[in-house]
Amino acid sequence: MTESMFIPCPHCSAINRIPADRLYDHGTCGRCKKGLFDGRPIELSAANFEAHAVRGDVPLLVDFWAPWCGPCRSMAPAFSSAAAQLEPLFRLGKLNTEEEREIASRYSIRSIPTLILFHRGKELARQSGAMGSDEITRWARSHAGR
Ligand code: ZN
Repeated sequence: MTESMFIPCPHCSAINRIPADRLYDHGTCGRCKKGLFDGRPIELSAANFEAHAVRGDVPLLVDFWAPWCGPCRSMAPAFSSAAAQLEPLFRLGKLNTEEEREIASRYSIRSIPTLILFHRGKELARQSGAMGSDEITRWARSHAGR
């Protein structure tokens, strides 16, 4: 008997239940048939935030950013490459604080970029300021213990 994990689909937000030992098998969503992990950050919004931050079994690393923020734009490639390194043990998502003000204010985002690591609805850690991809990867792993 293997443990199962709940993985929200990055495309349609359906909650997929997969055996934990199949996490690395490039599974597809039972509803929309697209890949559960594509090696890049997903776009978060009010429509899918809860699924990934609360209901998913893999920690969610969120980049709170805005289009007018220079340091956010320069960190974007580093965050994307961190996604390729951290998936599928983590889900990485970007939250545009201009468009999703309610979520940004719920987490009292005062400066951007800010990274917050969530797991099952709990905030594990947060860090403000741009980081490189190795730094992001190390930071996420150390706070999630994986
Ligand atoms: Zn899907």
